[in-house]
Amino acid sequence: MIRHAAIHGAVEISKGCGRNCQFCTPTMQSRVDTPLDRIMEEIKITTKEGSSNITLVTEDLFLYGAKDKRFIPNKEAVLKLVKTVADYPGVEGIQSSHMSLAPVVCNPGMVKEVAEVLVEHNWYSHGKKAIVTSETGIETGSARLMKKYMAGKMLPYKPEQWIEIITEAFGILNDNDWYPLATLIVGLPEESEEDVAETLELMDDLKDYNAFYVPLFFVPLEDCLLMHKKGAEVDSLSKIRWELLVRCWEYNIRIWRDTFLKHRIRNLTIFNVIKRIVIPYSAKMAGIYYGLKHGEQVKQAFRRMATA
Ligand code: SF4
Repeated sequence: MIRHAAIHGAVEISKGCGRNCQFCTPTMQSRVDTPLDRIMEEIKITTKEGSSNITLVTEDLFLYGAKDKRFIPNKEAVLKLVKTVADYPGVEGIQSSHMSLAPVVCNPGMVKEVAEVLVEHNWYSHGKKAIVTSETGIETGSARLMKKYMAGKMLPYKPEQWIEIITEAFGILNDNDWYPLATLIVGLPEESEEDVAETLELMDDLKDYNAFYVPLFFVPLEDCLLMHKKGAEVDSLSKIRWELLVRCWEYNIRIWRDTFLKHRIRNLTIFNVIKRIVIPYSAKMAGIYYGLKHGEQVKQAFRRMATA
């Protein structure tokens, strides 16, 4: 139990996960939910000390209260949690730290009702539209790697269905103004060029959805099942892995550039000058400079991001 309000109004609603992704440490703990009355005690402390925004800290909001061993969500428990927090006097914003994608496909109705509450209590916007966001792992588009290292991540579905689950979940989330922040892992142990090509195909499938993509190098965390494997390094960036990194940032810039600039620049003329002249010109100069130092690949990356 917290004694004072935490940074960003963080209140833990569950700990552990149990899906057994081998690169991950929270999975080493069994999933345990914090009882709702204790959560509300912490929210009382948090709001009393002046924080009107609450971060629900969890590995998966959608599995709060789930008892089913196949990771079937408990819609009533999730809705009760979110509505009780939203109705508490002094709570203005609610943000959930993490979610997984399989429960979205399992119960789209739950996502719709949860999103209605969270959009009303939004922290973020896209353009002028209030949105919800939470972090989620898509990690790879390779069914082979999913089966090898993350076979529980998509339960109750199968590793072979991972791509469909991601695209379907992104569709459901976006339909409810929920824009995921999605991580991808580059350089998992024994990752082949074919595995990366499958992830790029997944990125092709995702090109029309709204999300923020965070490509990360594989790091063998202490206490995870892959802790003795070698981490990925910049030197391991083959052409196709480089393409994946650039693709993620190309999408991010296309989806978020205007929102980022508009939140900082109110004057429309200045906004247009920065968007249409300053950024492309600076990127071109940076591309020439870094292209001379690091090669054509880097030059092209700057060009693509500038014109995203
Ligand atoms: S679903 Fe997320 S939190 Fe759970 S084991 Fe996998 S990476 Fe870890």
